[in-house]
Amino acid sequence: MTDTQYDVAVIGAGPGGYAAAFQAADLGLRTALIDQDPQLGGVCLLRGCIPSKALLHAARLITDAEEAQVFGIQFGKPQLDLAALRQRIKTAIIGKLTKGVQTLASSRKVDVIHARATLKNATTLTLSGSESRELSFAHAILATGSRPSIPASLKIDDPRVMDSTSALELPDIPTRLLVIGGGYIGLELGTVYQALGSEVTLVEALPRLLTGVDSDLVRPLQQRMQRRFKAIRLDTKVEKLEARKDGIAVSLTGQAGNTTEVFDRVLVAVGRRPNSEQLGLEQTKVAISPQGFVQVDHQRRTAEPTIFAIGDVAGEPMLAHKATHEGLIAARVIAGRQAAFDVAAIPAVVFTDPEIAWCGLTEEAAKASGQAVTVARFPWAASGRATTLGRNDGVTKLVLDAEYGRILGVGICGVGAGELISEGVLAVEMGAVAEDMAGSIHPHPTLSETLMEAAESFHGQPTHIYTSKR
Ligand SMILES: Cc1cc2nc3c(=O)[nH]c(=O)nc-3n(C[C@H](O)[C@H](O)[C@H](O)COP(=O)(O)OP(=O)(O)OC[C@H]3O[C@@H](n4cnc5c(N)ncnc54)[C@H](O)[C@@H]3O)c2cc1C
Repeated sequence: MTDTQYDVAVIGAGPGGYAAAFQAADLGLRTALIDQDPQLGGVCLLRGCIPSKALLHAARLITDAEEAQVFGIQFGKPQLDLAALRQRIKTAIIGKLTKGVQTLASSRKVDVIHARATLKNATTLTLSGSESRELSFAHAILATGSRPSIPASLKIDDPRVMDSTSALELPDIPTRLLVIGGGYIGLELGTVYQALGSEVTLVEALPRLLTGVDSDLVRPLQQRMQRRFKAIRLDTKVEKLEARKDGIAVSLTGQAGNTTEVFDRVLVAVGRRPNSEQLGLEQTKVAISPQGFVQVDHQRRTAEPTIFAIGDVAGEPMLAHKATHEGLIAARVIAGRQAAFDVAAIPAVVFTDPEIAWCGLTEEAAKASGQAVTVARFPWAASGRATTLGRNDGVTKLVLDAEYGRILGVGICGVGAGELISEGVLAVEMGAVAEDMAGSIHPHPTLSETLMEAAESFHGQPTHIYTSKR
């Protein structure tokens, strides 16, 4: 094998691509990991999950300090050093993690190539950028991810109109910020800017926030956001943006009629688009869906036998952990192992305050499909741990098969929901029934008890709730 011949060439070093490359190398395959970015880690590490969660942590420090007064503790007004915050995220967080990925790649003898890759045919890549050459492969894994999608009507050439990438750079803290989009990215970044001092207005074209998430899980978050944000306007469409000296003039159509309002900055967070263009896919048999996703089977093979695809470019949900899992599957299949993407529950977390997390079947999806389910709910008003934290604004629910109580889905809204959901994922994947969860002793006092108590209500009364039977 020459320097330019690989068993596996992985295009894209995000959480899907680097996991795939590491697994391929661990299984004895000569592997190249190619990314056009000078740093490894993809969107998730460089301009997605990691910087947004670091900022949300900073936001939480501020709001926790504000709310500490109920415990008789008063802090002064926070002094914000934006340069220090940016530097911490850049160096101590992103810098540290990307170096870690680089070290793991070299320990495994994965060849890291910083270049833009396009397919010349089903076994050859053309590299351009800092390295211009060709590379041949027995198998390639497309892990090129996604990018923010901004509709033409909202595209104006003005730095005050931001996408998630520029918003994460914290150019400044605008006095008046408009967030367009009530999905998780808009809600998370709106939470950050509000805590850092902006007056945030959020508009969503649909009648609800977080479409697809059960409304009883969204309610506690929406109530808190309504108190902290200047306004949340549902059923409201942004018609036009116009750059003015005094700000961005935004024309809105909604329940309040047509209005034009001026904001210092606007964040457009209305969706993401897969990076499946300009990859040379037309030189291969790889098929693309109308939404631009590379079409794959259960083993993440495309229509071209030598090419696999994983992560955001291969379909919804566009989440890092789904990308990683697919990466492991694709690499194992290429190495000749028995493997398939066969999961019952992909967790999703909205890292707002409170957090929302769910996995498996939702109550609303069950209703829409006519599936007979029982929903077991435990309000956090009855949780001792939630009370000690001063955060009774939560709910835990299980979506259970009506006859046997098999756990089909789990939803949680409350502080730390993102950590709690993994027990739900395990329960759904293992085919657990309510009794399994109810009969597993959960430590006291913890928020995890809310899962146990929700499960108890399938067969009787949870210990900390009493409803008289008539
Ligand atoms: C603000 C924000 C917050 C998010 N928060 C979360 C979260 O909390 N949890 C979660 O699970 N997900 C989150 N996501 C989504 C998550 O970032 C993605 O699902 C994940 O990064 C997808 O991983 P991937 O491996 O498919 O591709 P990506 O991470 O998108 O990486 C793709 C890589 O491919 C490279 N590339 C593309 N084309 C080429 C080419 N032709 N040649 C060479 N290199 C190429 C790119 O440079 C990039 O590095 C967030 C996203 C955003 C924007």
